[in-house]
Amino acid sequence: MKMRCECGEIISDNTDYLPYKAFLIADEDWFGVADAIDEITSEVASGRTTILAAETAVRVVLNKKSRTMYQCSKCGRLLVADWQHNRHIYAPISDADSRQILRGHDKVS
Ligand SMILES: [Zn+2]
Repeated sequence: MKMRCECGEIISDNTDYLPYKAFLIADEDWFGVADAIDEITSEVASGRTTILAAETAVRVVLNKKSRTMYQCSKCGRLLVADWQHNRHIYAPISDADSRQILRGHDKVS
């Protein structure tokens, strides 16, 4: 998938581990996600489900409750999907604002 930013930059999503892509979980959903994962873990611990089924169930929960967001590496705009998969664009207010705000925890230098 490719998107064109307002600045003209092309943002590609054709692989995993993208430094400019993140998944957003709303605070209103956060504890529900944690509770669902706790429930799945309990199912495994009790032997009512397999580890493989649990791994799939966790991914289903994460996919259901998260939305994608991208940051243009050129201008820093954030492209955030709503629940209808429409993209909303948010622009930085300063040149000092990070163009790498979506980098992974262990990837920030
Ligand atoms: Zn841009």
